[in-house]
Amino acid sequence: MLNIVLFGPPGAGKGTQSQNLIDKYQLKHLSTGDIFRANIKGETELGKLAKSYIDKGALVPDEVTINMLKSELDNNPQAKGFIFDGFPRTIAQAQALDSLLSSMDTSISLMLALEVPEAELKERLLKRAETSGRSDDADPAIIANRIATYNKETAPVKSFYQEQNKLHEIVGTGSIEEISERLYNAIDQH
Ligand code: ADP
Repeated sequence: MLNIVLFGPPGAGKGTQSQNLIDKYQLKHLSTGDIFRANIKGETELGKLAKSYIDKGALVPDEVTINMLKSELDNNPQAKGFIFDGFPRTIAQAQALDSLLSSMDTSISLMLALEVPEAELKERLLKRAETSGRSDDADPAIIANRIATYNKETAPVKSFYQEQNKLHEIVGTGSIEEISERLYNAIDQH
């Protein structure tokens, strides 16, 4: 199996690049942000709970997120591999993912970490707000909180994979195609 963690701060381009990667490598895309938003739209209990955190720019609690991810894995037994987009976002989630994959006799193949300067992230998110309809993109205070949460809770996840020699840092600026090429090269050479 090819199992990829696509990593990066809010606005780094994880969603955009995931689309290219799933087409090229025939992977199942698991975006925790997309799954939460689908639950919010469907007004499920999970959606109501997630919304209260997402609206503040905070993380949804680990237990809730990990259980949701586990059921997504259980529901896709035929997958040739996964792209994890927006997960893991804490060390506890990374540990849980390792043990879930190990119980499926597989593991993370590599982490692709998109690197984008903070000023460009803020610009991209405000621009995305014009079309995404995402309220967490429209408010500079919420954006600032998401970036602060990333720096404090999520950035350490990079070291977790670096210790396993799985980290590949990718320059996340330039055209979408240029960035895709860098990702393909890292995957093909890993
Ligand atoms: P972005 O990467 O642009 O912040 P996402 O769609 O990945 O957007 O996530 C949107 C929000 O959903 C996050 O700010 C957070 O509140 C919640 N979320 C997504 N994934 C996770 C996760 N793995 N753990 C906790 N909360 C999450």
